[in-house]
Amino acid sequence: INILAHDLKNPLTVIIGFSELIIEGSRAGTLSKDKEYLYLNMIKDSGARMRQLIDSTLCYGKLKSGKYSLTISEFDLANIAREAASYLSTEAEKTPISIYINGHELIEEMEELTPVMIMGDRDLILRSVGNYISNALKYASSLIEVSLRERDEDVLISVKDDGSGIPIDHIDLIFGDYYMVPGGKPGTGLGLPSVRMIAELHNGKAWAESEEGQGSTFYLRLPKRQGA
Ligand code: ADP
Repeated sequence: INILAHDLKNPLTVIIGFSELIIEGSRAGTLSKDKEYLYLNMIKDSGARMRQLIDSTLCYGKLKSGKYSLTISEFDLANIAREAASYLSTEAEKTPISIYINGHELIEEMEELTPVMIMGDRDLILRSVGNYISNALKYASSLIEVSLRERDEDVLISVKDDGSGIPIDHIDLIFGDYYMVPGGKPGTGLGLPSVRMIAELHNGKAWAESEEGQGSTFYLRLPKRQGA
């Protein structure tokens, strides 16, 4: 709770500070359109960060309590990857990061992806893939490659980035609760443990491979059917 409260305080300070600048500038008539646009964007980004923090903490808490009951349906995993990447790519626009899904670049008029049907909890799997992609967006230099490999019994999703990589002595720790590699980007350390719990709830597996300085690849293996 202390960590969360502290992490929420920073974006809240930004929101209050920039709101005050807008109010004072509007009252004095000194607020240019460019400044207004910049300040509103800062407020929006901070709000989005707070929402993401609250959302990931609530999801983690629910999974950790063991009370999560899966809502199983059949859906297309390729669509999930595309949905997660599109939703998060607004962040990618700020830095020139290209996202590819099975070799197709994520652009507005993207080619149709070959469907990869599986059974599982759509919301949770969307969250897991989104988690890998949002981490990759934080760390990638210029390229993220999402790949979906269909096998007889299961599907392997991987999210590869060309970022700084993860030191070998941390790779087994990052899926642990609250774990963050020292010197990394801001976060909660709750995303990867949530992905691992989601994988286990589906009788699947979540893991990572990385070479320092060469980027990282995060994997999620999911059985195609649940309870089969
Ligand atoms: P958060 O991203 O909120 O910090 P996560 O549980 O998702 O929490 O990740 C835990 C830690 O693993 C991160 O803080 C970071 O140190 C490391 N990590 C995750 N993804 C990557 C990545 N793609 N490249 C480098 N480090 C990563």
